Parts: sequence; C-alpha cells; structure tokens
Amino acid sequence: MDDVRVPLFLDLRGKRVLVVGGGNVATRRASRLNEAGAQVSVVAPDVTEELAELATNVQRRPFEPVDVRDAWLVLACTDDSRVNDAVAAAANDARVWCTRADDADQSPAWFAATGHADGITIAVSAGGDPRRATKVRDAAVQALESGDWPLRRQRRGHGRVVLVGGGPGDPGLLTLRGYRAMCDADVVVTDRLGPTQLLESLPPDVEVIDVGKTPRGEATAQEEINDLLVRRAKAGDVVVRLKGGDPFVLGRGSEEVAACAAAGVEVEVVPGVTSAIAAPTLAGVPLTRRGTAQEFTVASGHVPPGDPRSTVDWQRLGAGNGTVVLLMAVAYLRAIADTLMGAGRAPTTPAVVVENASLPQQRTLRTTLGALADDAERDKIAPPAVVVIGDVVSDLPDAGDARS
Ligand code: SAH
Repeated sequence: MDDVRVPLFLDLRGKRVLVVGGGNVATRRASRLNEAGAQVSVVAPDVTEELAELATNVQRRPFEPVDVRDAWLVLACTDDSRVNDAVAAAANDARVWCTRADDADQSPAWFAATGHADGITIAVSAGGDPRRATKVRDAAVQALESGDWPLRRQRRGHGRVVLVGGGPGDPGLLTLRGYRAMCDADVVVTDRLGPTQLLESLPPDVEVIDVGKTPRGEATAQEEINDLLVRRAKAGDVVVRLKGGDPFVLGRGSEEVAACAAAGVEVEVVPGVTSAIAAPTLAGVPLTRRGTAQEFTVASGHVPPGDPRSTVDWQRLGAGNGTVVLLMAVAYLRAIADTLMGAGRAPTTPAVVVENASLPQQRTLRTTLGALADDAERDKIAPPAVVVIGDVVSDLPDAGDARS
C-alpha cells in the first residue's frame, strides 16, 4: 500500500499537547514530548506516577470533547477503542491532529520510529507497522554510527589535516577509515601514486588538488605542500592528504605531520597498505618463509649506493641473506645490484620486479640478482616498481600472480 501520509518535523516547544490516557503507552509518548519541550496535559481517571510528574496539567477524570480545545496535538492513548474514537472525533471537529495508539488505520497521524546519529534525525514509517519501522530505523542508525553510510560529519568548527595512506593504487586496498576520511574532507590533496581512481567518485563538493604534478609536469615542492595543508586547515577546512602506500614509509609523511604540528594544526594519520609489502604479495612472493628468510629490509633506491645522501647500509644488505625490498630503485638498479653482489650476495639470488602493483597494468619480472639490471632494461621496467631480492622469490608457483 502506498503511504499517502506526509512526514513532518514539529517544533512543539511551549505548545500544549493533550494526552488522553494514563498508562504506559501514554507515559512513554508524553515523556518524549516533554523532552521535546511540549506542555503536556493529561486527562485520564488513572495516571502513572511518572506521567503525573512530567505533565504540566493532570485531570483525573474521563475524557470530554471540550478537552481538545487549545491543544496543538492530541494523543489518544487509552486501551478503550471507544474512548479513542471519541477523542479522534473531537480532535477532528476542532481541526487538531490526533494520533491513535490503538489503530493505525483509523489514526489521522502517527509517530515515526525515530533515531539520532551523527547530528541526523531519522524518522521511519512503514505503513503503520511499527516493528518494521523500528528495524529500518535501527539499521539506519547503525549504518550512520558505524560509518557504513559515509556521510559528511558535522563540522567541529576548526580545520585539521588527515594523512591517509591510500595503498598501492587499487581502491580496494584503501582502508575503510581512509575512505571515510576522504568522503568527509573539504579538500583532498593527492599524489600521483595511490588510489587516484577513487577521486572521481568522491562527493562533488570535495575539492581535489593534485600535487603529484603541476601543469608543467613538475611535482610541487614539499614546502609548498606543507604550506598548502597548513593554510587550508587554518582556514577551517578538513584536509585529507592522500598518499600512496603508507604515509610513513618513504613518503615524507612525517615531514607533513611535523609542519602541521609546528603550525598548531591538528593532524591525524591513517595507516595504509605499503607497496613494499603489497607488491610482492600481489605477485605471489612472500617476504618471509620459514627456514628461508626471517627478516626483510625495505630500502630506498632513490639515491645510488655511495651517494653521501644515502643512509642505506648496502654492505650489510649484501652480506646478509634476508629479503631485500627496494622502492624507488628503477633508475639505479645496476649500481645497486653490483653493490649487493660486491658485498657478498650471489648473482644467482632470485629477484622479482613488480611494476604497477595492484593496478590493471601490473607486470611482474622474475630474474636473478645478476641479470636484474639487463632484464629490467630489456623489459623497459618503469616506476612505480618494487624490487624484491632474496631466496623467498624462488621456486614459487605463479598462483598469486594472476595479472602478470
Ligand atoms: N609510501 C609509499 C612509498 C612511496 S615511495 C608506500 O608505502 O608504498 C614511491 C615508491 O613506492 C615507488 O617508486 C615504488 O617503488 C613504490 N610503489 C608505490 N606504488 C606502487 C605500485 N603500485 N607498484 C609498485 N611500486 C609502487
């Protein structure tokens, strides 16, 4: 049945509401109206103690039609349907809205099942079936409270920055917490890597600023990014700084946190799935395996071995036999491989390169440390790519490597 009723939100503060009936139903309803600021008048031979206490006016006697005068709303809550009929008829004559607790079909008005969450009032009607309405209400409240409905939160009045680790690129590898933060943001400041595809499906009022590249193709300087985050947060915006992988793994996230802290801007960090771990896993390569490797080292190949700016101990990595995971290493693969071999790693050590991990164009190159640089050159391996060197790479089934 189509519900022809029109939902309304009434402001009953200071308004007289007549409650006919003095039992539990009347008490429950009256108590809610009282909380809403209404002036509750009660007419009933017997009235619960609680109802008598909250009512502005109590008449301990049977209902008379004249009682509906001056009421904005009438509640027929007796357990006698003839009395409720009389109340409804009197209210109708006086053109006052009346709710009947006993008979939804005969009731000109009824109360919705209501709930509150996150600054939102939910009112549900299920065609006079209060149980169904309550269930839908509960589900809606729960969805709001849990964040399953990623609605914008009410602004708390001051701006802040949320550093979100976006994972390696597939939107499915972003955390729920990160996604909710993005939907809630006034502005998302994004990098080139990470789940950039998601940016298109954000609510239309979320502004997106790409600092991964400028129109001239150059990345925005870190200081400018820091300034942008601070400036927007100070202007009252909720700023999400979306970063690839985990914000604190070779991503300068800590510098952004420090800049915010120095400027007195509140900052929160949402961890992400780092490509250092996701890329090998997506290629079916475990970073540890019982009896083979019980450690892995994640190192940056951003600057080559021997460069004074590098703090990586390449000698130790070459001499050991733990798994080595390299990020930002494509440009210096030859120098890195030579250094590792020079320090003791066998040229036969298995290696794998995972390019564009988690994205549709993911590519995997399986090789050895000795052949790594040549093979990567031959296959035109390009960033972003993760390189894994170590015995864990060997003799694995290709089961996890569905995309290569
Ligand atoms: N904070 C990021 C790393 C940033 S440094 C993280 O935790 O993943 C950038 C490097 O990450 C790239 O040069 C590449 O080595 C690696 N990377 C990021 N996304 C990648 C992807 N989808 N596939 C392969 N490597 C990726």
